[in-house]
Amino acid sequence: MKEYKCKYCGEVFDKPLLLAQHVRANHKRAKTREKKGVEKEKQAEQIDKTVEAIGILKGLQASPNLSEAEKKLLGEVALRIEALLTYTQKSK
Ligand SMILES: [Zn+2]
Repeated sequence: MKEYKCKYCGEVFDKPLLLAQHVRANHKRAKTREKKGVEKEKQAEQIDKTVEAIGILKGLQASPNLSEAEKKLLGEVALRIEALLTYTQKSK
């Protein structure tokens, strides 16, 4: 007799329909959760990089070689990114 083995947990079924029902009931949700976890991780990584970028901008702003207008511009850009970051974190 042919056996249908679940590729996720190894449970064996004698009909493909039973296997399909088992996978749908037991493993589909787990897969979705896993995917969401990866997306959250990526988002956290992006946020870390953005915080780093704001730090770089603020460091540049303190540079003595810049004109007042350039410093003001860098400050505005940093504020804009910060506002976006706050918005992103709120929508999580
Ligand atoms: Zn299974």
